[in-house]
Order: sequence, then C-alpha cells, then structure tokens
Amino acid sequence: MLEGLGVAPGVAIGPAYVRESGELQVVEYQIPASKVKAEKSRLAEAAAKAVRQVGKLKIKAIGIHGLAAEELGYLLEAHLQMLNSTRLIGGIERRIEVDRRNAEAAVMAEISAIAQEFMTMEDSYLSARADDVREVGHRILRCLTDVEFHGFSGLDKDSIIIAEEISPADTALMDPREIGGFACVLGGAEGHTAIMARSLGLPAVVGVPNLLLRIRAGDMLIIDGNNGLVVVNPTAARLAGYERRLKDMARETRALARLRDVPAKTRDGQHVALQVNLELPRELAHATESGADGIGLLRTEFMYMNRSDLPDEEEQYEVLSEIVRAMKGRPVTVRTLDIGGEKLATSLGEQIGEALNPALGLRAIRLSLKEPQLLRPQLAAMLRAGAHGPLRILLPMITTPSEVRAVRGEIDRVARRLVRRGVTIADPLPPLGVMIEVPGAALAADSLAQLADFFAIGTNDLTMYTLAIDRGEERVAHLYNPLHPAVLRLIQFTVEAALRARIPVSVCGEIAGDPRFTALLIGLGVRDLSMTPKALPRVKSRILSCDMHAAGRRAMMIMEQVDSGRIAALLDDFNETAT
Ligand code: PEP
Ligand code: MG
Repeated sequence: MLEGLGVAPGVAIGPAYVRESGELQVVEYQIPASKVKAEKSRLAEAAAKAVRQVGKLKIKAIGIHGLAAEELGYLLEAHLQMLNSTRLIGGIERRIEVDRRNAEAAVMAEISAIAQEFMTMEDSYLSARADDVREVGHRILRCLTDVEFHGFSGLDKDSIIIAEEISPADTALMDPREIGGFACVLGGAEGHTAIMARSLGLPAVVGVPNLLLRIRAGDMLIIDGNNGLVVVNPTAARLAGYERRLKDMARETRALARLRDVPAKTRDGQHVALQVNLELPRELAHATESGADGIGLLRTEFMYMNRSDLPDEEEQYEVLSEIVRAMKGRPVTVRTLDIGGEKLATSLGEQIGEALNPALGLRAIRLSLKEPQLLRPQLAAMLRAGAHGPLRILLPMITTPSEVRAVRGEIDRVARRLVRRGVTIADPLPPLGVMIEVPGAALAADSLAQLADFFAIGTNDLTMYTLAIDRGEERVAHLYNPLHPAVLRLIQFTVEAALRARIPVSVCGEIAGDPRFTALLIGLGVRDLSMTPKALPRVKSRILSCDMHAAGRRAMMIMEQVDSGRIAALLDDFNETAT
C-alpha cells in the first residue's frame, strides 16, 4: 500500500501500465555537416532537461523513509553522474559529429556500446549497471523526442497509468472509458493535472515517492483517489471491499442524478446559479446533461496541447461555435489563453521559455498581450462564435486596469477588421470579464470593477499567490488552504466590490465544486458558482439543505476569526447541523 495525495476521488481497479518502461521508437537518419551544431545543441537541451528531472526526483526521495530512500538516493545519484559525465555526453556528441547521425540515433548507439561493456564484466554488481545506463539513455531519448505526449490508446481496459510525472496535456489524452486512473511521483492537489483528472472522473493519486520502485508493468492495482492510496496486488478480501465501494458510489451517483431538473434554491427560496467549468470539448455532453445554467469557465488551453503548431482563427471558431450552439442559449464564458506557469504547451515553448519563477512570469494575459498573434485569432474566434449565442470573454491573471483597457482596444480592432471582412460577429460585443486570482487584483477590485463587465474569482491561484504556496507542488500541499483568513478576506472584498459596482461575480476555483465551502461562499454573497460537471449535483444538494440567512450569519462569524483552524471548525459545525 503506497501513500500519496488523493487528488481526484473514486476508485479504479486495473492492471498497471508503467509509462517510463515502454520501449521507445527511435528514428535514425544522417544529417548534413551544416546541422551538426544544431543537433548537438538539441542533445545539450535534452541532457539538461534530464538532469532537472532527476534532480526533482532526488528531492522527492528525501521524503521517503528507510532503506528504499537510501537505495533510490544512490540510484538517482548514479544517474546524475552519468548525465553529467563527459564519457557519455562526449561519446554521443562524437557520434553526431563523426558519424553524422541524428541525436536520437547517436544516443542509442552510445548507450548500447556502454551497456555492452558493462554486461561483459565479471563483477555482477558492475554488469547490473548496464540497466542504469539504458535507463539514463531512455531518459535522454524521451527528452529528445518529447514522448511524454504520446497517447494512451490501445492499452488493456481500465489500465492504470503509472509515471514519474503526468502533465495536463497527458491527462487530456486519457479516455475515461479506456483508462481506469493514474498515479505519479510528482504533482500537487490543485495543479492543472489534478483539476483535469477530477473533471474527467479519473481517480488519481499524485506525489507517491516510491511508486516506480514498487510497481511493475501488469501488477494489479487499486487507486483509491479519496484516501490517496495505491494498493499493489491486493488480497481477495481487499479487492472485494473496494468492489463494494464502487457499487455504493454508483448508487449514490444515480440518486444525485435525480436532482438534475430541481432548481438550485436554498430552503428560504434564494436561487444560486450553478455553472460548469469545461476543460475539454468531449465533456460537453456532461455540461449539457448536468442541468447547469451555463459554462462559467471554458479553459481554452486544450486547443494548444499535444501539437507543435498553433490553432488558427478558423479552427478555434469551429470549436467555440459548436460549444455555444450546444448550450442552447445558456451563456458560455470563454477564457483567453492561460498558458505559462505550470500549464505549458509544446507549441508555445519558445514564446514562454524557461523562467526562474514561472508562476510570476510571462503567463496568461501577459503572454497574450505580448504576442498579439496569439490573442487576435482567439478574440476573433470568440467574437464570431458569439453570433451563435450568448458568449462572455474572460481574462486570466489580470493585475491592473491597463491590461483590461489593452484587451478592450484589441477587441475593438479585431471587431472592426471582421466587420470589414463581412463576417458576422456578436452584436453587441460580448461582455468582458476579469478573473480575480491575484491578491493585488482582489485588493484593487473596486478599480477593476469600473472596467470589467463581470468578475470570476479564481480561488486556485488566489490561494496560491496569497499564501505563496505552489498549487502543483506536493511538498507544500499541506499548507495550501483556501480557508486561510487572508484568502477569505480577499474573496469577501472582491464580492463586495462587485456588488457595489453592480456587476455579476462568480467563483470558479475548485472550492466552488466542494460542498464543504458552499454555505460559506453563498454566505459571503456569491450567487454564482462554476465547477466541474461531476461536482454539480452534490453542490446543488447542499444548497437545497441550506438556509441563506443562516449561512450569511455563519459567514460573518467566520470572517471575525483570525485562525484557519477555528474557521474550519465553525464551517464544519455549520455543515453538520444543517444537513
Ligand atoms: C483558478 O485559478 O482558480 C482558476 C479557476 O483557474 P485555473 O485553475 O485554470 O488557473
Ligand atoms: Mg487560475
């Protein structure tokens, strides 16, 4: 039984598919003399990336106790030494230079030559090092070929993906009808990978330090996403226990589905709008079937994932207009690209580059405003899709009014150009909203409310930036707490600023989909919550059992507290007595 962070609830039972163990398909070709330099720098970049990966794993290994930690520590140190050795990298470089082979082919040739040398050694310890050499070689190859983005099709049914790290782009490739769930060594609870897993309904456990040491391909696994457990080759009794839990969960889901057409009203008759967050177009059916009032957050990053080129205006228009049409008159809030920080896309690697503090760097609206060739086609597609139904434009990571003004200027320019082209666009132009997810934006909410048509509070980033806790970092995950009084005050401040300016305000961070927070949020004056479609029935059920006045009184009591433990106790106590 291995422990980690349960980031997406549910239970999955199935065979292990260990991603890093797969054989790599490598293309081999000759390169002209003019390409030798470029090929050597590709190799250098891949080797540097491999060193970074092993470095991260080494830090992770410190968290494990006992013999396994020592064993893993030695192993990773040996890998680091190999990656830094001139013998290995120099050997590969020589093959690129002398044999004029591409970097992948040169790595393969050098690795098999060194592994061969080790294997012929008498000493059994040294001959076993051949495996390490191969592993290091494969790591460089993976970094060279970017195969972390390979698909997960054709695996055994209900396979459980086991990997060092799973990116949001990887998750986007997992089909919940085929894949059972996943577990990985790195990652935090509010990272985008975790959000994606929750929205796809894939049970997931991240931050399991000794995962790759303990699991072999084909092992029978149970992923317990509620309790953060990975059970390896379970006993018959444990398996039967989990199968019973699966049945209970299915029964509960059926019961909750009956709430679909029940209006989300509190016991004292106050209506709360419930909208959905959409990560991938294939969840659209869930959105339309969930009985939601609209799409409160359409993350557009999926259009940029798992590809090396950028989507053009036409492609984006097709996708957006299909979503708008499918929602049949219910509003669709489309967010401009929020790439950067932890959400990287290969097609944008060059624009973003490596940053010392990616979350504080060229991310989201900052990137869009710097690169108009990203923003303009996206805005054009939104304006055109807005002709098919109510569409709102949402801007991520806004910190100052000038950014909102700059985007309005772009929208006007793009609109004029489209009209000149004779293209039909939304008329009037779509409302323009601002994500409040940076503490500075929350504190300046009054001035932003003068420019924005609506606010959407992104509590995932707001918590991260307020508490300086990386939402995707498992080692500080225990400190990530949206119930910290500082975070709650910023939410309250923003809601009040929106009410003063008479603009709508919603919450679309992960707490909006957690029934534990529902009473507190509505008590603070929020009347619009946007969440993953799967969370909607539970939140609705909480609203039905809640009294708005009582929630308001409890929220005021909570806001007088300075200690997050006390806040949590007051909230949990209110939730228990009301249900
Ligand atoms: C947030 O930050 O709360 C949010 C909703 O956006 P994302 O999770 O995509 O950063
Ligand atoms: Mg955010």
